[in-house]
Amino acid sequence: MVEPTSGQPCAATVIFNLPEYRVLAAAYSALGVRRITVESTGVPGCPACGVVSERVKDTRLQRIRDIPVAGVALVLWRKRRWFCDEPACPRGSFTEATDEVPRRARSTRRLMRALAEAVVLSGRAAVEAARAHAVSWWLVQSALDAAAATLPDVDALAPKRLGIDEHRYRSVRWYREAEGSPWVRVEPWMTTVVDLDTGQVLGIVDGRDSTGVGEWLFARPLAWRLGVEVVAIDPSAAFRKALRMWLPRTAVSVDAFHLVSLANQAVTEARQRLSQEIRGRRGRTTDPGWANRRLLLRAAETLSERGRKRLRDVFGTDDPTGQLQAAWEAKEQLRTLLASGSLEEAWDHRRILEGLVEAAPTVETKRLLRTVKRWWSEIEVLITTGATTAKVEANNTAVKNIKRTGRGFRNPDNYRSRILLRSAAQTAA
Ligand SMILES: [Zn+2]
Repeated sequence: MVEPTSGQPCAATVIFNLPEYRVLAAAYSALGVRRITVESTGVPGCPACGVVSERVKDTRLQRIRDIPVAGVALVLWRKRRWFCDEPACPRGSFTEATDEVPRRARSTRRLMRALAEAVVLSGRAAVEAARAHAVSWWLVQSALDAAAATLPDVDALAPKRLGIDEHRYRSVRWYREAEGSPWVRVEPWMTTVVDLDTGQVLGIVDGRDSTGVGEWLFARPLAWRLGVEVVAIDPSAAFRKALRMWLPRTAVSVDAFHLVSLANQAVTEARQRLSQEIRGRRGRTTDPGWANRRLLLRAAETLSERGRKRLRDVFGTDDPTGQLQAAWEAKEQLRTLLASGSLEEAWDHRRILEGLVEAAPTVETKRLLRTVKRWWSEIEVLITTGATTAKVEANNTAVKNIKRTGRGFRNPDNYRSRILLRSAAQTAA
């Protein structure tokens, strides 16, 4: 900070650039380490009575951790203890503190900020950020906890469209706090609640059943819940149940992506079943259906002329019952249906889908049609509102990155705060 009396601070202070501090000395130690001694320039106000002190009781050197300034340096704070000269004050003396290094802190605020940013914005692992700044993993974690404490209050937001999506964040694992304490099963599933308009992750709950989501929604104020107009979910009956209970006035939309996945699954299952029935074995490289198994799942309009020809060959040579082609057509028809611009159009496409399934009623196509019928009102909401969890999916990609860099969080709380921080940072950007 600029000193009030002498105009400009000294060159070393300007270069070091730590607010409320001036550099007293900078030298190399015997080992060649730069040793920077600083002093606070703040006004020493007594924390008990607020009266400004003018009498130093004693000083001592405290080592503080800081960001590297032109390289790593040893930073020593010549910290003063002051007398409180206010007669009515019960406090005889006090040690000075600053905004950059608050009472009891041993690190500068700018270091804590840099550590949190290294993890949150650059997506580096906590261990890696710790190594780069020559600090402990614990310090990085406490920087993250401090940042998480400043996250915006979810209840102060007024989201109109929510997306709810589950993801598996790691394999099932057991761990215990200490030797002798009971083993705890770590739930590998987490459900994220996202504001579909901003993409911000609002909440993360353990598991993927209705309980967690229901409790999370119930914890929101009534006005908040009433303000939600539509919620996009994947086709899971559990979520639908939770939403009927906690957001009874909200329209529920089913996610297009998940429905298309179910259709793709129907194609794959039909292909596998037919291979067993016709050849009595699993598919092989030499079977056209197996060789083109990924092509079968591609969106028809993205196929090249060569791709389309290969599919025709599959249906012509490797599909004697025509059931594989039927599953593929049902999949494509569902995709067309989901892209409908109006409810009338959606109904027309639904009737075409019903016709296709009627003409080729296999286990897979019938099941797909049943799902479509069971989720029809949610599909209608999807078509009318366009509320889809695509943004949740985008977030899940970021989540997967966090998962990868974290290499399996032991503590779900750490994982959760990491996701919320990253999402809040991305939303602000
Ligand atoms: Zn005092």
